[in-house]
Amino acid sequence: MTFEYAPAPESRAIVDIKPSYGLFINGEFVDGHGKSFKTISPATEEVLAEVAEADQADVDAAIKAARRAYTRVWSRMPGRERAKYLYRIARILQERGRELAVLESIDNGKPIKESRDVDVPIAAAHFFYYAGWADKLEYSGYGTQSLGVAGQVIPWNFPLLMLAWKIAPALACGNTVVLKPAETTPLTALLFAEICQQADLPPGVVNIITGAGSTGATLVEHPDVDKVAFTGSTAVGKAIARAVAGSDKKVTLELGGKAANIVFDDAPIDQAIEGIVNGIFFNQGHVCCAGSRLLVQENVYDEVLERLKRRMSTLRVGDPLDKNTDVGAINSAEQLGRIRELSEVGEAEGSERWSAPCDLPSNGFWFPPTVFTGVSQAHRIAREEIFGPVLSVLTFRTPAEAIEKANNTPYGLSAGVWTDKGSRILKVANALRAGVVWANTFNKFDPTSPFGGYKESGYGREGGRHGLEAYLSPHGTAK
Ligand code: NDP
Repeated sequence: MTFEYAPAPESRAIVDIKPSYGLFINGEFVDGHGKSFKTISPATEEVLAEVAEADQADVDAAIKAARRAYTRVWSRMPGRERAKYLYRIARILQERGRELAVLESIDNGKPIKESRDVDVPIAAAHFFYYAGWADKLEYSGYGTQSLGVAGQVIPWNFPLLMLAWKIAPALACGNTVVLKPAETTPLTALLFAEICQQADLPPGVVNIITGAGSTGATLVEHPDVDKVAFTGSTAVGKAIARAVAGSDKKVTLELGGKAANIVFDDAPIDQAIEGIVNGIFFNQGHVCCAGSRLLVQENVYDEVLERLKRRMSTLRVGDPLDKNTDVGAINSAEQLGRIRELSEVGEAEGSERWSAPCDLPSNGFWFPPTVFTGVSQAHRIAREEIFGPVLSVLTFRTPAEAIEKANNTPYGLSAGVWTDKGSRILKVANALRAGVVWANTFNKFDPTSPFGGYKESGYGREGGRHGLEAYLSPHGTAK
C-alpha cells in the first residue's frame, strides 16, 4: 500500500530567476544579436525567463573570447594554478547546491531529491576530481598538451551534470570552452556562468551561449573550434560527425542507448526490483544509459513482473519540488509527444501496456510509469530509445540467449546484470558490447569511472583518467 504523505515542497525562495538572460561571453553577460526564446517549467508550463538565442555573430564573439583566453592566459597557466580555479568552482557548487538543485528541478522537471542528491553532488565531484588531475597530466598517459577551444553541446536531461562532465576535464587540461546548453534547460548553465564570475575565472575561459539546434550547429562547425564534445541524440551526433568530417577537430560523441537489464533466476529479487525501477524510472527515464529493456529469466518472470508492478504502484508522480516525489515531469511537450507515439506503436505492434495507477497533474507534461510485456526483439519499443518512463520486458532461458538478446541492438552504452554468482557476472559482463556494465546495481555514476559507448552510442570516454584523452594531444599541436 502507499502511505499518504503530506506535501513536503522545497522552497523556491532560494532561487532568483531573472526575467531575461543574455549570453555569457568573455566573463560578462551581453545582449545577443539574435532573437530570444522562452524557457518554461515543464511541471506547470509557467514561463520562467526569456533567453537570448545566439546567432553566427554571437558564436564568433564567444569563440574569439575563448581563443584569446586560451592563448594569453589559460594555456600558459601552470596546472597547479588552473587546479585552484577548479577547486574553487567545486566548492561554490557545493555551497550553492540547494539553489542549483531547486533551479534544475524547476527548469527541467526532475524531482528535487534527484537534483539535490545526484546531479549537483556529482557535478561538484567532477570539478574536484579533475582539479586533482590539472597538475598531474604527465601521468595521464595522453600527453600534456591542450587542444585549444572546445565547442560543447549538451542535452536537457542532466543540464548541470553534463555541463560539469564537459567543462571540468576541458579546463583541467588547459583548454577554454564555449558551451551551448539545451534549449529547454538553459538556467543552471547561466547560473554556472555567475559561479565562474564568483570564482574569478579569467574572462573567456568559459563562455555560455544559449540557443537552439542551429546555434549548436554553428558552434561545432566553426573553423576556430579545435575540439567538439556532444551529448544528445544519435541522429544529431551523426549530423555533427558528418559536418566535421575532413576537419582536424577532435570529436567525442555520447549518444543514445537501449540498455539491457538482465535478471537471472538466482538474483536477489527485491534488490533487482529496486534496480529495475531505478534503471528506468530515475529521471523520468530521460537517461541515455537507462535500463529500458528488461530481460528476465523465464522461470522467475511471473514473480518479477508481479513485484515490479506492485513497486511501480508506490511511485509518487508529481510536483518536482516535493521532496516525496519519485517521478517528475516530462521535459517538454515535444518529448511527451515522442513517448506517447512510441507507446502507441508498442500497443499497435501487439505488446501489452500497463501503467501504474496515479493521478497526473492537469497542467504540465506527464507520463505514468509504464511497462510493456509480450515484447519481441523486432518491436520498435525494443529497439528505439523512448527516453521516457517506459520499460519493455523480454524473457530468456539461458545465459547465452540473454547475451545474444542484450547485444541485439544498434546501441552499446550500458547494461545491467543481476545474479548471485560472481563468475556469471564476469562472464556475462565480458560478453556484453556495452561501455558500462553494472552488476547488481544500476545507474551509478562516479567521476573516477569512464563512461561512453560502442556502436551507435558514440565514441570517446568521459570521466576518469580516460576522460582526459579527449582534451589532450600527444603531439603539441596547440594554436
Ligand atoms: P538533440 O540531440 O537534438 O539535442 C541535444 C543538444 O544538441 C541540444 O543542445 C540541441 O539543441 C543540440 N542540437 C540540436 N541539433 C543540433 C545540430 N544539428 N548541431 C549541433 N547541436 C544540435 O536531442 P533532442 O532534445 O531533440 O531529443 C531527441 C531525442 O534524442 C530524445 O527523444 C532522446 O531519445 C534522445 N536524446 C538522447 C540523449 C542522450 O543523452 N542519449 C539526450 C537528449 C536526447 P536544442 O536543445 O536547441 O535542440
